[in-house]
This record gives sequence, C-alpha cells and structure tokens, in this order.
Amino acid sequence: MTRRVAIAQLSHETNVFSSVPTDLAAFEAAGLRFGADILIAETGTNTCIGGFIDAATEVDFELVPILSVWATPSGMVPGDAIDWLLQRLCDGLRDAAPLDGVLLALHGAMVTERDRNGDALVLERVRATIGDAVPLVATLDLHANISIRIVDAADILIGFDTYPHVDMADRGREAAYLLRRMIDREIEPVVALVKPPMMPTSQRMTTDQNPMRALLDTAHRMERMPGVLNVTLAGGFPPADTEETGAAVLVTTDGDSFLAFELAEELASDLWSRREEFLGGVESLEAAHRAISDHIRDAPPLIVVDIGDNPWTGGPGDSAELLRLFLAWGATNAAIALIRDEASVRAATAAGTGGRVDLLLGGKTDDLHGPPLAVSGTVRMLSDGRYVNEGPMMAGLPVDLGPTAVIDVEGISVIVTTRAESPIDLNIFRRHGIDPARLDLIGLKGKGHFRAAFEPIASLIMLIEGPGITGADLSRLPFRNVPRPIWPLDPDCGWLEDESDIP
Ligand SMILES: [Zn+2]
Repeated sequence: MTRRVAIAQLSHETNVFSSVPTDLAAFEAAGLRFGADILIAETGTNTCIGGFIDAATEVDFELVPILSVWATPSGMVPGDAIDWLLQRLCDGLRDAAPLDGVLLALHGAMVTERDRNGDALVLERVRATIGDAVPLVATLDLHANISIRIVDAADILIGFDTYPHVDMADRGREAAYLLRRMIDREIEPVVALVKPPMMPTSQRMTTDQNPMRALLDTAHRMERMPGVLNVTLAGGFPPADTEETGAAVLVTTDGDSFLAFELAEELASDLWSRREEFLGGVESLEAAHRAISDHIRDAPPLIVVDIGDNPWTGGPGDSAELLRLFLAWGATNAAIALIRDEASVRAATAAGTGGRVDLLLGGKTDDLHGPPLAVSGTVRMLSDGRYVNEGPMMAGLPVDLGPTAVIDVEGISVIVTTRAESPIDLNIFRRHGIDPARLDLIGLKGKGHFRAAFEPIASLIMLIEGPGITGADLSRLPFRNVPRPIWPLDPDCGWLEDESDIP
C-alpha cells in the first residue's frame, strides 16, 4: 500500500544578537524551492530531505514535496517572512490532502518576530492544517532548543547524533522509517522531555570527543532497548535567547511513558554531571602564536579557527581579525576563508584580476566584530562564489557565496565574499585556485563543522575567540529571555542534587 507523505524543510538557527535580520531575501539567497524542484536539487544529498527521498522507495511512500528553505544563521526572522513561508507551507499541505503522514526538517532554534519559539509556531500551524490524526515526524539539529510546545505538536522528533552534522540523511531516513510504522499503526509513540538548567556552547560539543561521545554511546545503548524508538540529546543554541534555550534529552518509546521518562532522566543527569567538560577548548592569541611558530615548519598545514565570527552561529562573517593576526604573526603561504565584504569585492572587480587594491576590509556590519582593516593587495581571482560541497558534511549541496574575490595580502590569500557561509568544505579553497593541503597556515571561521573536511588535512587545529557574538564567552551577550539561573551564566546553579527523590 503506497502511503502519501508530504515533505518540507523550514530551517533556521537564529542568533538574536545579530544585527542582520533573516528576511525573505536571505532565505531566497540560501535556497528556496517548491514542489518537484526539491526532488531534482536534493536527491542524493547528505541532508534530511535527501534522507526522506532516499528512504521513500523502501518504505513505499509517494512523496509530495512542498517547500524546502533554510538560511544562513543570522538575526531574528521578521514577521512578514515567516508569515509568507508558513502560508506557502500550509497551502501546500492543504492542496496535498488527503495525506497519510508528514515529514518535516526543522532546526529547533528559529526565533521569529511572530513567536520567539519559531519551531513551535511552524509545528503548531502544520498540526492545525493537517489535523490530529495525520502522523507528523520532524528532524531537529543537534543544536536545537527543544521545548514542550514542539514535543506536543509533533508525534516524533529526531535530533542529529553528530557534530559536525554528517548524519542528516541518516536521521531523515530514520524519520521516514518511524513515520511508516506510525502510519501502519505498528507503534504508538510517547515522549519524555527532560531539560537540565544548562546551555553549553558548542566548541567542545563535537561528537567524536567526550563528553558527547560518551553521552551518545549511552543514548545509542538506550535506543537498542526493547520499546525505545529514539533517544535525542540536544546541546542547544544559546544565542537564540528564548525561554526554551538550552540542552535537552528527549526519549520516544512505544507506548511506555514511564520508560521514556526514566531514560530521559538518566541521560539528562549524566549530561548535567559532565557539564564542566563543555568548557574550554579555546586558545589565547599568544598560545596560538607560539604553537604556530613551533610547529609550522615541521608539519603544515596548521588551522586557526576564529569562533567569535562564525557565520553558522549567526556571525556576520566580516570580522578581519584573522587577517590582522596573520599579518602580525608574519604568516606567509597562508589563506583565510572568509571575510564578507561586498564593497571590497566591488573594488576588486573594478581593479580586475592582477590589479592592485587599497581596501578597508571587513568590520562594516556593526561595531561588535572589530574595525575594518586597512590593507593593500593584489586581486588574484574573481569568481561567482559558486561551488558544490565535496563533503562529507552536506555532500553534493551547492553553495553560493555571491561575487567573490581572492585578494593576496603579503602572502596571505583572503577569500572576500558577498555572502557569508561557514567554510566547512575543502572546495571553498579549491574553487578559488588554492590547494589547502599545500598551505602552511589556514584561517577559518567556525566552531565544529569545519572538522569533518579539514581535520584529515591538518596537523594542528587551534580555536581562538576574536571579537563577535558567536564565541564561547557568553558574558559578552546581553541575554534577556533565557530562564535563570542557568549554567554556565550562573556557575553555582543547582539541579536535583539536593533531592533524594527524583520527581
Ligand atoms: Zn547545529
């Protein structure tokens, strides 16, 4: 029996401290697709939608693709943008009726002007459109801020198990398989959500290292127990600054509420007791400089990552801090990805390939990411900023940085772009005539995702924290809505320790 299933993605990670609103143009620039175009563009990609499509044949789904959209993490989603996207999504669902089920790819940290809990807004509107009887399964990012509202609106929520997120397609497949079992009435999912009062930053949340590796081992052991359908451990996304911001454990079982709650409580206690392990992992500028001087001749390339202006945590991408440092350190045979600066790209375009330019580079979006840097350089290459990810993360997905210039500044190649994305793929360099494996020093903006592609070529990786709104130092951010006390903003915050009897 073929089952008619609608699929859609509406995904955004919102940093409310960003001065760049995530308007409709931002969604369009990152990729906005409808209907059959979704299948054409996303079949075979390592994304949730790619996983939905991949599993559809095996579980006998007739897919009705409706909407697929995401945007680079940035500021609040304006009311008119979310209204328009929801209208398209819900109209599409109504036109697709009757449906046997719905699969959604969400992030879990979207903040909108209409409702700070943007994902709850989406799920509640979808639920109201399809009715209570149609099963609804959604995937979430590992950095989701999970709330009781989204748990109530969906039947099953499935978070990523990897950071860097290389299991998006696998989680999409898992969602499709669980939806198939719901449609066929083989399972009756019940969910328990437990949230310890903590919001760790993600620089030490990579899942091949502890504490996440050990915690996910426990989660996967629980998933193999009879009656357990899914165990999700979400690290949360602090710069969303909502009432629901923070880490969470979500356990879905087949009809056994007690088991769901018991396991969620156990894993959440484990997470809480290991919270200090999420701290650190960021070098001082002096330590980074020393390490570079010590290692660079023996075993290049070294990678220095500025976590303060990470585009995928909502940084504008226009901090020039890495270039300032590299120049101060006298680095050569080095490259930086990236500095977003449309005006400098225009100046480079006017000068042409081989031309000389004097630039005030970066630092133009706000006064939180350092000042513009005065540099003279040579335009090495001009491009349209388009390439396709080699992966493993988001393999096969096209990237569009907008008009881009590679500018050589005293032996340092700087990729200057019109749009900002996190440099997570080697092809950002290769597309611009640079072989990253042959460099001595690579500068990236990121936090964890870069590791999937760059760790295999690096001899040493160091994280530093330049100026900006995306780093590990939460004292820089004026939180207003997160529930207090919360660790690590309130270091002495307690949870359950004084209680002999867990409620
Ligand atoms: Zn994430």
